[in-house]
Amino acid sequence: MNKINIAIDGHSSCGKGTLARYLSQALGYVMIDSGAMYRAVTLAALRSGVDVHNEQELSALLPGLDIEFRKNPENGRSELWLNGVYEEPNIRTMEVANSVSAVSKHSSVRRFLVAMQRNMGAHKGVVMDGRDIGTVVFPDAALKIFMTAAPEIRAARRFKELTAAGVQTSLEAVLDNLNGRDAQDSSRADSPLLMANDAKLLDNSNLSIEAQSQIALQWAEEAIGKRS
Ligand code: C5P
Repeated sequence: MNKINIAIDGHSSCGKGTLARYLSQALGYVMIDSGAMYRAVTLAALRSGVDVHNEQELSALLPGLDIEFRKNPENGRSELWLNGVYEEPNIRTMEVANSVSAVSKHSSVRRFLVAMQRNMGAHKGVVMDGRDIGTVVFPDAALKIFMTAAPEIRAARRFKELTAAGVQTSLEAVLDNLNGRDAQDSSRADSPLLMANDAKLLDNSNLSIEAQSQIALQWAEEAIGKRS
């Protein structure tokens, strides 16, 4: 059967990763979390004391970054490694979340990561989630999904996740972070967060994970059928 690429874009913390993981497992595809790559650049910048608003300083950092995903054999998840070091928990902190939109607005950072992302999808069979996947990275993807949900619902879900992972924060801080990131991601000049004209909208404010998974799997099967 022909493989396709699936692009999942949408607002912060609305379950794009959960849906991407489900679809990749159901279809035997590779899942790529493009946000993890922007977070890895942000982590490297914060560690080396680079000003995240200074594009020149950030650009100088890029050639020294080896960003890769490795599959964890214990849980089957693809996890981020930076320069040969496992950094998955360290890219998920609030500190990184608060600086990542400043980093991701710079064109040189985007060019660097988009080139890597296109390589990863060159042979199809990829489910990639992010903000510009259907509009910029894979404009020809056979299925594009744009996800959203009410901000308060997204914040409550993310707060629960962070607290369970031992991150100390408040519901208010999480809500502020996701509203702030959505505003910055939607208003940046290069590759703003936009719903592609040919994307399917999935608002999961009142949908269970199972229900949204079934809707998306049906879309995927239809799209694969059309390409076969
Ligand atoms: O998906 P996640 O919330 O981990 O993404 C973190 C940030 O990375 C986003 O808020 C956005 O600034 C940036 N990003 C992006 N383009 C993508 C994926 C993420 O600009 N394709």
